[in-house]
Amino acid sequence: MSRLSHEFTDIAAICAHAGAGTGDGNPLVAPLVLSSTFCRGAIGSDCEHQYSRVSNPTVSALESAIGALEGAPPALCFASGLAAEMALFLAILKQGDHVVCGRSVYGGTTRLFSQVLSEFGVATTFADTTSIDAVANALRPNTKLVFVESPTNPTLELTDLRRIGAIARSAGALFAVDNTFLTGAGQRPLDHGADISVYSTTKYIDGHSVAVGGALVTRDEALLDRIRFIRKSTGAILAPFSAWVTLQGLKTLPLRLERQFQTAAEVAQWLQDQPGVASVRHPSLAQGNAREIIRSQHLIGDGAVIAFELDGGVEYARRFLDELELCRLVEHVGSVETLITHPATMTHADVPREQRIASGISDGLLRLSVGIESFDSIAADLSRGLRLFARGVPTPRQEVATCALTA
Ligand code: PLP
Repeated sequence: MSRLSHEFTDIAAICAHAGAGTGDGNPLVAPLVLSSTFCRGAIGSDCEHQYSRVSNPTVSALESAIGALEGAPPALCFASGLAAEMALFLAILKQGDHVVCGRSVYGGTTRLFSQVLSEFGVATTFADTTSIDAVANALRPNTKLVFVESPTNPTLELTDLRRIGAIARSAGALFAVDNTFLTGAGQRPLDHGADISVYSTTKYIDGHSVAVGGALVTRDEALLDRIRFIRKSTGAILAPFSAWVTLQGLKTLPLRLERQFQTAAEVAQWLQDQPGVASVRHPSLAQGNAREIIRSQHLIGDGAVIAFELDGGVEYARRFLDELELCRLVEHVGSVETLITHPATMTHADVPREQRIASGISDGLLRLSVGIESFDSIAADLSRGLRLFARGVPTPRQEVATCALTA
């Protein structure tokens, strides 16, 4: 099985050839190796794979490619994005430690810090990571980790990775970046001072909504060894079948991203001019300092996730969603289909309302994950929902009456 070296920097080639064998008679597509264990020639023999909780050839093929995307050694893959995060936390945190986490990260990450790690004596401060001062002020002498997303889920805020990384380093903390929304093909956090990149491969890397998985990427060999030890000891490795499916998705990652990122920028621009749309967020619309972050960090575009609010808030959002046919209401991003989510009741339902609102996730906010369909198809579907606004926005009282009548 090939091991793509981290000097190999053609992103499309890394993805298309992931797992391909070299030499006479080797398969072009990575074989799916389902064996839970591997034979040894003799006591003490040092074979590459021994037991699939520790490593597996199909999982290793995926790990090589995900690592290569960031010019790093092979990644470590996990059963989910949250399992990857948990392995990182177990590797570097202990009772009495403190974490600074972005205030508007994925709701499951917020829950992990505030409802799970808190039970084990790890405290977290949620800070606005678009502000250097806010992160600096949140640091404590016992801060061991600064954890950010850029762009954030779902508020699409951008973080200056180089500056936040420098602050973390000066405080003796590790700097982790959840790069799920752009992937290593779209942004390389390790090149901007991150110690570790975190991925839910469930999203863009798989890209087809078929496999749940996660990955960690670092160039720090000691940290990699420590996380590998945690994975072996806690058993959260990715299953070979999920790795194989993800490898097939990975092959077209750069093509999908270029298309989805481009269409998303067009949809965001278009949405801004539609009646009934109160606000639109997408990095391509950002001004000021964010433009410089985009220039220095984003490789092929600004992501395919858009957040927007409708006039009339949550009641109207519900009726808007009822009208859509192409855009699917699901709890997911990063797939080839255009997907829509209501974060307040779905991805961020476990975040206390006050904290959620303070981080910019209002009750009426909608998150659109733009797929590979044409701009025209997506705009036509959204227009179906927006037609509701043609006669103006009813007050909530009128709207309840309308709903009652319809029923
Ligand atoms: N990070 C981000 C940015 C996410 O959006 C998600 C899931 O939506 C996760 C991490 C968790 O990943 P998983 O669902 O694979 O556990």
